[in-house]
Amino acid sequence: MNRLSLVDFPGKLCMNLIVPGCNYRCAYCPHEQLIHHHIPMPKIGMVEIVKLVRPRMGFLDGVSIGGGEPFLHRGLGSFLSEMRFQNIKVRIKTNASRPRAVQYVLDEELIDYLSVFIPGPLSRYTDIVNYRINVDDVKRSIQIIRKSNIPYEFRVKPIPGLVEKEDILEIANTLSGSRRLVIERFDPTHILDPKVCGSEVFSQSELEDIRDSASPYFGEVILSY
Ligand code: SF4
Repeated sequence: MNRLSLVDFPGKLCMNLIVPGCNYRCAYCPHEQLIHHHIPMPKIGMVEIVKLVRPRMGFLDGVSIGGGEPFLHRGLGSFLSEMRFQNIKVRIKTNASRPRAVQYVLDEELIDYLSVFIPGPLSRYTDIVNYRINVDDVKRSIQIIRKSNIPYEFRVKPIPGLVEKEDILEIANTLSGSRRLVIERFDPTHILDPKVCGSEVFSQSELEDIRDSASPYFGEVILSY
């Protein structure tokens, strides 16, 4: 948990909540301790979170929930309902692998912002996420999110030799017409599998070139800092 974040909920000040567990195994994942449930982590319950956030509302705008993959958690729906009841705005960062859960929170109007991480082009998706998943589920989530009325963004992470500029442009083509793309920077110092990723990073000018090349496909493309 990070009690104050200026960057996780676009345009808002938020408390950043991190949940463990992910159904993907991206070699470049910076959260090894989150994707393996067996690594002990401090736990905090819903009541405690409400107690922490509620007195800060007015200063904070809401909470951001990331991971790991928040939609793997059965208790997420009741947590989001409580946030609604408390009038606390919520941003979720997801890997889009659970279309029914995404549809549910949108239908029930339980969230205010959705960030969707797309690890690689759909044609190489299972190789990049390093797990047997149903790519049709990701496609379905993308459709649902693009039709929704809430603000959303897609996020990608270019990595030399693994997710190249051409891959980002393939993703851009798949998501063409979407509202916003955020290009995340790769940090090779904390990753799941350094053997696959290496330590090379794209330079600032290479990232700007990727941003400019992807720009025609989106309403807005930004580099994260
Ligand atoms: S989807 Fe995100 S949290 Fe899950 S393994 Fe990939 S980088 Fe890590």
